[in-house]
Amino acid sequence: MRKPADTMRRTKIVFTLGPATESEEMLEKLIRAGADVARLNMAHANHEWTRKVIRRIREVATRVGREVAIMMDIKGPEIRTGDVTTPIELKPGEIFDFTVKPHVERGNAEEIRSVDVNYRDLVNDIKVGDTVLVDNGLIRLEVLEKEAAHIRCRVLIPGQLTSRRHINLPGVKVNLPSFTEKDRGDTLVGIAEGIDFVALSFVREAADIELLRDFLRTNKSTAQIIAKIEDQLAIENLEDIVESCDALMVARGDLGIECPFEALPIIQRQAVRACLSHGKPVIIATHMLESMITSPMPTRAEITDVANAVYELADCVMLSGETTVGRYPLECVHILDKIARRIEIEAADEMPGPATFMQEKMKVLRAAVVMANELPGAHIVTFTRQGFMARGLSALRPIRAPILAFAPTVETLRHLKLLRSVEGYLLPFDQNPDETIRHAIEVLTQTGRVKPGDKLIVVTDILSQDRLVDSVQLRTVR
Ligand code: PEP
Repeated sequence: MRKPADTMRRTKIVFTLGPATESEEMLEKLIRAGADVARLNMAHANHEWTRKVIRRIREVATRVGREVAIMMDIKGPEIRTGDVTTPIELKPGEIFDFTVKPHVERGNAEEIRSVDVNYRDLVNDIKVGDTVLVDNGLIRLEVLEKEAAHIRCRVLIPGQLTSRRHINLPGVKVNLPSFTEKDRGDTLVGIAEGIDFVALSFVREAADIELLRDFLRTNKSTAQIIAKIEDQLAIENLEDIVESCDALMVARGDLGIECPFEALPIIQRQAVRACLSHGKPVIIATHMLESMITSPMPTRAEITDVANAVYELADCVMLSGETTVGRYPLECVHILDKIARRIEIEAADEMPGPATFMQEKMKVLRAAVVMANELPGAHIVTFTRQGFMARGLSALRPIRAPILAFAPTVETLRHLKLLRSVEGYLLPFDQNPDETIRHAIEVLTQTGRVKPGDKLIVVTDILSQDRLVDSVQLRTVR
């Protein structure tokens, strides 16, 4: 078996907080086990709980001495069925109506059963022949005809319809605001509590991201935006979305419903490549260890799925139900950690050439990564105020060298939590860049992270005749 090039895990772990993980004890265990980012799914959270758990995460992280970033995942536009008094057992071939308000009085001599939908434009936006999927794709219907205030469908895949079920309309351009009133309220709470990332659900185009960016700017937040791609429109606009977001999430839950399921692996690969070429981090989400909600061991297929994300060079893998309601949340983090570390050793031998970037500054970073790839045992050391240097180096995917990134603020330090191969350190920057490098090397030697004789490729600004210039330096630890 090959030996690891370094002790660090390159792939980062995102976990979703829920009843199974919200206690101080469990948070401490997860942070100690190496979880990097805690995700709050606002579809299931109220403001009181949100404030309480964010403060708790910060307290526990401080006590443990290991920062974790906090991601607030806002719900975005969502279509749901209304309430039903008793569950409706939909039969194969049954004719069924989805109605919108205000209702138009209609004779219902045939006694066709129906349910309300919270989306007034449903009737305008959908076409005869389109598909309606209910309850995360479990129930499938085909649209037969449209009237002023209802669509009439035939049940293709039957099932039990209960109250407030999620509806997907594959291929339909849903005419709902991308950043809803609820999202605004949730995000304000997140901003007040100092969240690090906002994940925007159902991003359809770059303009959706810009809207949120304006909102964050107006409210003086430094939170970064993670665009969740979940439907066909997002795939059509993928390049623009990647360009304008700070990070991307391949939200395979909805994506697997909105797109033909056999296209999902292709979309995943395409999304990772797009992120690599734009220098943006990418998260692979949903069903990574789904069976571990009830079982202490993953299936063989899940192990391979996680491994695939690592082979594809994704920055992060994400846990959802596994850590919100699962019986084995800690085991899930251990298992992701174990698979990632093992596959990273293999993947190092299969690394593609690093991404090419258009920006001139990236050429300097590229020079550093090429050097690191050619010097066995080298470490990349960088200094990053806003995270730009670390993000660029990470996107170039150095084969074996870890990226030891020094940041002067805790905000930037937490933003580094998404980035593959990056290990963040908090360090005040000196006026003189050379002094900052000296302090950083001191930290690395004192903590045993590097030892005398190790090669460091230092990527930083230096002072040259009173001007700051980019530099790549090769240093040996003394
Ligand atoms: C998903 O659909 O995969 C996802 C991560 O989004 P959510 O959990 O918000 O549905």
